[in-house]
Amino acid sequence: MVLEIRIDDVVRLRKPHPCGGYEWQVVRLGADIGIVCATCGHRVLLPRREFEKRVKTFVRRGETSTPDKPMSQ
Ligand SMILES: [Zn+2]
Repeated sequence: MVLEIRIDDVVRLRKPHPCGGYEWQVVRLGADIGIVCATCGHRVLLPRREFEKRVKTFVRRGETSTPDKPMSQ
């Protein structure tokens, strides 16, 4: 199963950050997913597969108005 991940998604991970926070906001998409701890602001990059393994649930979804761009170039 492939997760659809969007900028500004807020996710809850299976394990808490050392600061005690469970919720992270997605700030970067790509081969690596950039997330920021909502509690302490710590930023990490995770390979997409690792991110998908760690996510427990989506708390809030980002904007949906970003359709896939055609690969025209
Ligand atoms: Zn934290």
